[in-house]
Amino acid sequence: MNDSVRNVTIIGSGPAGLTAAIYTARADLVPLVLEGEPSSTSDQPGGQLMLTTEVENFPGFVDGVMGQELMGNFRAQAIRFGADVMTEKVTKVDLAAAPFGIWVGDPNAPEPTFRSRSIIVATGARSLMLDVPGEKRLLGHGLSTCATCDGFFFRGQPIAVIGGGDSALEEAIFLSKFASSVLVVHRRKELRASKIMQDRAIANDKISFLWDSVVTEVLGDDKLTGIEVRDTVTGTTSTVAVDGVFVAIGHAPNTTLFADQLDLDEAGYIVTGEGTTTNVAGVFACGDVQDHIYRQAITAAGSGCMAALDVERYLESHHE
Ligand code: NAP
Repeated sequence: MNDSVRNVTIIGSGPAGLTAAIYTARADLVPLVLEGEPSSTSDQPGGQLMLTTEVENFPGFVDGVMGQELMGNFRAQAIRFGADVMTEKVTKVDLAAAPFGIWVGDPNAPEPTFRSRSIIVATGARSLMLDVPGEKRLLGHGLSTCATCDGFFFRGQPIAVIGGGDSALEEAIFLSKFASSVLVVHRRKELRASKIMQDRAIANDKISFLWDSVVTEVLGDDKLTGIEVRDTVTGTTSTVAVDGVFVAIGHAPNTTLFADQLDLDEAGYIVTGEGTTTNVAGVFACGDVQDHIYRQAITAAGSGCMAALDVERYLESHHE
C-alpha cells in the first residue's frame, strides 16, 4: 500500500472525472486519477468520447474537435496542474469509513492499494450494444450511439435506428430533422416506448418501421453501407442500405464496484443528493454514472466541476 493517504481519488477519466481532476489539481489537492485500462470497447481510457469521431457541440470549438483529441486535452490540462494520472482499473473499494480503501489489481489483497480521504466516482455509463459483426469496426464511422452528437452528420441521408424504447423513438424523431429517411428496426411487433412517443413517431412522414427484425451484421469496410437483418417470423435474411445506424437499446451505468455501498436507483445509477453528494460522506459522484437524463459531455464536465468544489468544501470541514 502507498504510505500516504490521498486527499482525493477520482475514479474514471471521461469529461466528468478529468474536469474534477483539473479543478482539484488547481486547488492544490494533488488528485489521484485512476483512469481505467483499455477495454473491449476502447483501446484507451477516457470515456465514451473516445468512441466517437468529431464532436461539434462542445462549446469553444468553432470547427468541432475529434473526441480523442478533446479528451487528450482534458487529460493534459489535469496533468499540467499536478494531477497524478494512473492507467489502472479499480477492482474494489471499501467505503465503510474514511480514509476509504481503493484496490487496483488483485481485489483479494489484504490491504488496499490506496487510501483516500475523499473519492469522486466518475465511472460513467456505457451504451448497450448489439454485439454483432461489424459493429465495433464501424463505431464512429457511420455507427453511433448518440443522435444529439452525430445526427447532424447525416443530413439528407437514409439512416436506421435500432430499438423500440423511448430512446429509440426520441432519437428517430430528432434524426428525422436531418436524415432523408429513418427506419426504426425493432425486434418485436409492439414498441416498448410510451404512447405519446409512439404517436409522434408514427405521425412522422420520414419515419418507417421494420418489425420483428434483428440486426445480424453491420455492413461496410471503413464506412458503414447498411445492415443485415433477420426476420424473426419467417427466418429470412435481407440487406438494408443505409448511411448511418444509431443503436438505442438502452444504457447501463458502470456501478458494479459500488453496488452494496452506495445508494443506487432501480436502473443502477448512483443516487446523488445535494450537489454531487452520495449516501456516504466524503464520496461524490458526477457525470453519466449518476445522470441518465442529459448524458452530454458538457453536462458531465459541469458536474465534474461541481464534485471538485464539493470535495474542496468537504476536506476543509473535515481537516484533521
Ligand atoms: P428501454 O426502455 O430499456 O428500451 C430498450 C429497447 O431496445 C427495447 O425496445 C428493447 O426491445 C430493445 N433492445 C434491448 N436489447 C436489444 C437487443 N440486444 N437487440 C435489439 N433490441 C434490443 O431503454 P431506453 O429506450 O434507453 O429507455 C430507458 C429509460 O429511459 C426508460 O424508462 C425510458 O422511458 C426512459 N426514457 C424516456 C425518454 C422520454 O420520456 N423522452 C427518452 C428516453 C428514455 P424489447 O422492447 O423487445 O425489450
